[in-house]
Amino acid sequence: MSDLEVILREVEKPGRYTGGEWNSVVKDWASTPVKVALAYPDTYEIGMSNLGLMILYDILNRQPDILCERVYAPWLDMEARLREARLPLYSLETGHALTDFDIVGISLPYELNYTNALTILSLGGLAPLAAERRAEDPLVIAGGSGAYNPEPMAAFFDLFVIGEGEEVLLELVRLYADWKRSGGATGPRPKADFLRQAARIGGIYVPSFYAAEYDAEGRVKRTVPLVPEAPARVVKRVVPALPPPPTRLIVPYIQAVHDRAMLEIQRGCTQGCRFCQASTIYRPVRERTVDEIVRAADEMLLATGHEEISLVSLSSSDHSHIEEVVRALAERCAPKGVSISLPSLRADAFSVRLAEMVQTTRKTGLTFAPEAGSQRLRDAINKKVSEEDLLRTAEAAFSTGWNRIKLYFMVGQPTETDEDVEAIVDLVKKVVAVGRRYRGGRAQVSVSVATFVPKPHTPFQWEPLVDDETLRRRLEILRRGLRVKGVEFSWHDPGTTLLEAALSRGDRRVADVIYRAWQLGARFDAWGDAYRPEAWEQAWRECGLSPEFYGRRPRDRDEALPWDHIDIGVRKEFLWREAERCRAAMPTPDCREGCVGCGVNAALPLAGGTALCP
Ligand code: SF4
Repeated sequence: MSDLEVILREVEKPGRYTGGEWNSVVKDWASTPVKVALAYPDTYEIGMSNLGLMILYDILNRQPDILCERVYAPWLDMEARLREARLPLYSLETGHALTDFDIVGISLPYELNYTNALTILSLGGLAPLAAERRAEDPLVIAGGSGAYNPEPMAAFFDLFVIGEGEEVLLELVRLYADWKRSGGATGPRPKADFLRQAARIGGIYVPSFYAAEYDAEGRVKRTVPLVPEAPARVVKRVVPALPPPPTRLIVPYIQAVHDRAMLEIQRGCTQGCRFCQASTIYRPVRERTVDEIVRAADEMLLATGHEEISLVSLSSSDHSHIEEVVRALAERCAPKGVSISLPSLRADAFSVRLAEMVQTTRKTGLTFAPEAGSQRLRDAINKKVSEEDLLRTAEAAFSTGWNRIKLYFMVGQPTETDEDVEAIVDLVKKVVAVGRRYRGGRAQVSVSVATFVPKPHTPFQWEPLVDDETLRRRLEILRRGLRVKGVEFSWHDPGTTLLEAALSRGDRRVADVIYRAWQLGARFDAWGDAYRPEAWEQAWRECGLSPEFYGRRPRDRDEALPWDHIDIGVRKEFLWREAERCRAAMPTPDCREGCVGCGVNAALPLAGGTALCP
């Protein structure tokens, strides 16, 4: 038995590490010229539910001269066992170490898995710091929503892909292949030469070609390019029209978080919730047509055998033909016993009707996100749900047979007061009363509360994170107020909130903290049982930096931000105007009702000059 086989008998969930799943693509290693590993910095179960990685895996593997294999972060036991046995982290398709690939791409979906990216590199045989890697090492790149503020992770990557990867990744891999074929890899300054060429591709950010300057208080003054190839602002890439979705999705052996076929029906959202980073970075909205969706669903179900199909979108009920989509899919899926899920629905009666159309037999829970309890705060954060909407939605749901509604709220949003939090309690009680009227004692309302974390490129990017004392007091208001029969209350432990806020709005110097915390054992920081606050405290201290400086400090309008050189198309003036409207509790309409001037149409002229705005 090999060392690896011995290890796999001993670790938790060995199915995470074996590969060989249905629809995984195994190409001939020796005869395929370009080799790419795509890694996800979380467990297999979470990574397998990430559609972004699946899309890129599919695109790359469709190219005859490129192979693409997957790598996920090993859980703590597997990391320890691999290190003891001196075995490298390997790809699931062919078991090759990361050092055997030409390119290693790591997705950065969330700040609290940044340290796992370092584990992947180091366990794969690569120095985590880009400056310490050897000329013959693979090119190490990153993408995903974390790349929209690349600075805290800048020291670890050769380059970042800013925006949607569908086109740019292929351009980059082609450039790399040509450069390697033409002998560039053996030149005198191999990596720097390649990076200079890559920096000319739109949406590519090469951090080593920029320098950050700081003022006496330690705030970023500006980030300046150092070579002519590096643009002063890196404009995000968007695909003008969504390419056909991947349909031969890999079917995991062990239960993934989302164990179903995922079909993206639209990208982007026009509602403009002010706390939401996805709402700004994925603009403009692009929809798939009904035909495309139905065709893809047919192919997907045939290729995977899944019994559930999830219509992925930031706001499914906003698709302009959603009713047609749902009707067409329900007709095909019901006879086959396949269920349809609509994961993100607006709180309105229309959404309940949609849910009704897809729930043929089981009526499990329905989920809505009012985010705030009072109308004033919902106006301030631009969440377009009124109390009447929510109560009518609850009525529509409970009266048509649902027993359970799940509601998401956030605490700690800008301008929030204790009264706004008390209003959550009142609102939930009203929903429970509606439930009682229709379902009696069976009515259940589950309330899930998260802490607001300000994110780059949003109207709240200048706002401080709420202080601990206020946060705990507000959670206590909820804990006490929601001790009501039929209500189940859960909240995210706010312990990692400051860390998330600091990493999300950090500058280049934060890389030292991430590296040090990782050396001190920080792993899986989002997982309560793995989080090591003492490692982070020591790392911040040793690096002479503080998480409060990044997380809790309000910024003025004129302060340069560490991500100002990353251009998402949405103008900073628009974000500031939205922040001011928040302070005045003024909502801004959905831009499908008329452009509200975010600027993306002018900044990203697509498809021959026409922007794809609604
Ligand atoms: S430019 Fe106007 S229509 Fe287009 S995404 Fe921005 S606000 Fe919406």
